[in-house]
Amino acid sequence: MENITASEVAGFGVGALLFVATVAATKVDSFISASQRSSLGMCKRCGDVKMIACSRCRGVGLVKGGPFGFNLIEDIYESLGGETTRAGSISCTKCQARGRLKCPDCS
Ligand SMILES: [Zn+2]
Ligand SMILES: [Zn+2]
Repeated sequence: MENITASEVAGFGVGALLFVATVAATKVDSFISASQRSSLGMCKRCGDVKMIACSRCRGVGLVKGGPFGFNLIEDIYESLGGETTRAGSISCTKCQARGRLKCPDCS
């Protein structure tokens, strides 16, 4: 039952530490940039671009499938190597297919 060696444990520890450090750095970075933006009088959310990427279509302007889950079958078909026409993609109604929305914080 000696499957895990000491060096493996150490490696895992270092990996976890690096992961935590990376996450923390990202959070600190976003916190600093947000406070920098507000001190410059810029919008915290969009940095005065006045636009944010649409959360529903992720900035693409199109969403897959209708409201009844037809795209699930399409996804399975695609994962099996089939070609689909992408006829199931519809314009995003949240952003009117523009992929962007007005920033709710400053517009
Ligand atoms: Zn804004
Ligand atoms: Zn959208």
